[in-house]
Amino acid sequence: MYDVAIVGAGIIGASIFRELTKYNVKVIVLDKENDAAMGTTRANSAIVHAGYDPKEGTLMAKYNVWGSELFEELCRDLSVPYKRNGSLVLGFDDEDMERLKKLYENGQKNKVRGLRLLNREEVLMKEPNLSQAVKGALYAPTGAIVGPFELTIALIENGVTNGGEFKTSAEVIGIEKEGVVFCLKLKEGEPIKSRYVVNAAGLHADKVHNMICKESFKILPRKGEYYVMDKSQGGIIQHTLFQCPNKMGKGVLITPTVHGNLLVGPSSEDLEEKKNVGVTSKGLGLIQETAKKTLEHINYRENIRNFSGLRAISDRDDFIIEETAVKGFIDAAGMKSPGLSAAPAIAIDVVAILQQIGLLAEPKKDFQPKRHQIRFAELSPQEKQELIKKDPRYGRIICRCEQVTEGEIVESIQRPAGATTVDGVKRRCRPGMGRCQGGFCGPRVQEILARELKKPMEAVILDREGSYILTGKTK
Ligand SMILES: Cc1cc2nc3c(=O)[nH]c(=O)nc-3n(C[C@H](O)[C@H](O)[C@H](O)COP(=O)(O)OP(=O)(O)OC[C@H]3O[C@@H](n4cnc5c(N)ncnc54)[C@H](O)[C@@H]3O)c2cc1C
Repeated sequence: MYDVAIVGAGIIGASIFRELTKYNVKVIVLDKENDAAMGTTRANSAIVHAGYDPKEGTLMAKYNVWGSELFEELCRDLSVPYKRNGSLVLGFDDEDMERLKKLYENGQKNKVRGLRLLNREEVLMKEPNLSQAVKGALYAPTGAIVGPFELTIALIENGVTNGGEFKTSAEVIGIEKEGVVFCLKLKEGEPIKSRYVVNAAGLHADKVHNMICKESFKILPRKGEYYVMDKSQGGIIQHTLFQCPNKMGKGVLITPTVHGNLLVGPSSEDLEEKKNVGVTSKGLGLIQETAKKTLEHINYRENIRNFSGLRAISDRDDFIIEETAVKGFIDAAGMKSPGLSAAPAIAIDVVAILQQIGLLAEPKKDFQPKRHQIRFAELSPQEKQELIKKDPRYGRIICRCEQVTEGEIVESIQRPAGATTVDGVKRRCRPGMGRCQGGFCGPRVQEILARELKKPMEAVILDREGSYILTGKTK
C-alpha cells in the first residue's frame, strides 16, 4: 500500500516524485515505458523560459516564472547541465516591435526579472551573426537552457535514493476506488494500491483521467520537428533566439544547447495520432525557411540528427493542476510549453494540494538533496589523471565524439534507476550523441550493458521494448 502513486515519469511526474521523497510518505512513480523521460520530456527545445509569454493570471504564467527561479539550484544539486544564457525575442518590422512591447508588458505583469527592450545596435552587439534585418528585441536575462532528460533521470534517481520507488514497463490500464484506496491495474503484474493518485501521464493524461473520473478535458498532440547541428555550429550564437510568438506557439527558435550543439526548430503541426513522431521533409523545410529570417547562414550540412516531439495541447488552454471530483485523485495535465520550465514549481504545489486534502507528510530529516555525476570531458587534466589512477575504466574512451569513458557508462548502468538500454546510457552520459551518432561506440556500449547486466548481447535493446539490435548469432 502506497501513500501516493504517480502515473508518468516525465519531467512533471519525476519532479513531483522527488518532491514527495522530502517527506515521510511511501511513494511510487509508474511509467509504461522501460525508462524515465520517454515521452514529451525527451524531445523538446530544452529551454527554461523566462516567463514573459504566458498570459498574466494563468497557471502557466505563475509556474513558469516561479519554476525558472528554482532551476539553477536544483540543477546544481543534481549535477545536471544548465546554463543561464539569456534569450532574445527578435523583431523584424513595426508590427513585431509592437508585439515585443506587449510581451514586455506581459512579462512585467508576470514579474519576470530584468526584461529589457533593445534597439537594433544593442541586439547586434549581443549577437553579431544575426540577420541584419533585425529591428530590435526583447531581452530576458533569466532565460536558460537545460538537459531535460538528464534532469528527469536525476530527479527519479535522487527520489529513489531518498526511498521512493520507480517502476518501469508499468502501464496503468484501469483505476478503481474502494473506500479511500485506489487500485491501479497494470497491463502486466500485480495492481498497485495507493491512497492518493497523481496523473502526470502527459499526452495520455486525458485517458488516465477518464479511467476514474468523468471526462473533463481532451488532449491533442501538436508535433514539433528539429535539427540538431554539430558542435561546429554551437558557438555561432550565445543566446536563445526566438521570433515573435504566434497562435501556434513560440515559433521557430535557434539556440545553443547545454552540450554545445545548435538546435533549430520546432515546426508546429496539429495531429490526431499521439504516436506520430516521424520527421518529415515538409516540416524540416519549413524550419529552414523560417529560421533564415533569424540567421541567414546556418550550415545545414552540419546537421547530425533530426527528431520531433509532441506537445500535449489541452482544450482548457492552461495547465490543469487540481484535485478532481474523485477525492484523492489529482491531475497534473495539459503540460504544453512551458511545462519543463514550470515543473519544479508545479511539484511544490502538487505536494501542497496533497497535504491540504489529507496526506500526512512529515519532512524527512535525512533527505539527501544532492547527487553527483562524473563528466570526464569536463574535468581538468589533473582531475582526469587522479580519477584514472583510482579506476582505470575512466582512462578508456568509448565514445570518441563526446569523450565518454567506460567508467561513466558503467556508472550510468549501476546507479539507482540505471540505464538498461543503449539509448538509456546515451541519455545519461552521452555516448552516441556526437557527430558519428553512435556508429563507433554503439556496439561497445551494447557489450558493456550485456556485461554489467549479465545479459546476452541479443537481449540488449536500443531503446523502447522491441527495439532489437541483434537478432541472433550467424555463426
Ligand atoms: C516540440 C516541443 C517543444 C517544447 N519546448 C519546451 C521548452 O523549450 N521549454 C519548456 O518549458 N517546455 C517545452 N515543451 C513542453 C515540455 O516538453 C512538456 O511540458 C513536458 O515535457 C511535459 O512533461 P510531462 O511529464 O507532463 O509529460 P511526458 O514527458 O510526456 O511524460 C508522461 C509520461 O507518462 C507516461 N504514461 C502515459 N500513459 C501512461 C499510463 N497509462 N501508465 C503509465 N505511464 C503512462 C509516458 O510514458 C510518459 O513517460 C515543449 C514540448 C514540445 C513537444
